[in-house]
Amino acid sequence: MGVCRHNCNRKYPNLSAYPIYVAMPVYTFCPVCGKELIWGERDGRSNQVCPAGDFIHYNNPVPVVAALVEHEGAVVLARNKTWPPDWFGLITGFLEANETPEEAVLREVEEELNLKGRIAAMIGVYTFFKLNQVYVAYHVVAEGNIALNEELDAYKRVAPADLKPWPFGTGLAVQDWLARRPSPAS
Ligand SMILES: [Zn+2]
Repeated sequence: MGVCRHNCNRKYPNLSAYPIYVAMPVYTFCPVCGKELIWGERDGRSNQVCPAGDFIHYNNPVPVVAALVEHEGAVVLARNKTWPPDWFGLITGFLEANETPEEAVLREVEEELNLKGRIAAMIGVYTFFKLNQVYVAYHVVAEGNIALNEELDAYKRVAPADLKPWPFGTGLAVQDWLARRPSPAS
């Protein structure tokens, strides 16, 4: 059992298997001089700082891209191998250096689902304080035959009318996407 040390103190059965939760390093020592970091006050905020003054761990939020993938009229939700069995979510990933969010989200869709996508719209920007992340969510329309990469072990296709958005994280983007869809009657 591991405890996420970023902000949330949530317990995870096997923390090392959750790469997304450890993407932001938890520092103990100054990466410049090697001295142990101490907590310091700055502008009313507490940060881990180097006692010699050469490093401040700002713990800035990490941007993440998320894709609501529409494929043959259904929305594709996928399950990360490390998630509990009943969890399915959007396709998400970190940006590489020198990559725009648009490039990143289409690359993630291709890597994780083997689908060629195009961006239909940006859905919105969402904060996920517990993971110290900011999501940029896109509606991606994709074509091809789904093949999962090693990060995923299951997917399901859900008709938009049957989507049940979860009330946090990328679920908020699903809510907004559904709210903006034209109703079937119109
Ligand atoms: Zn230092």
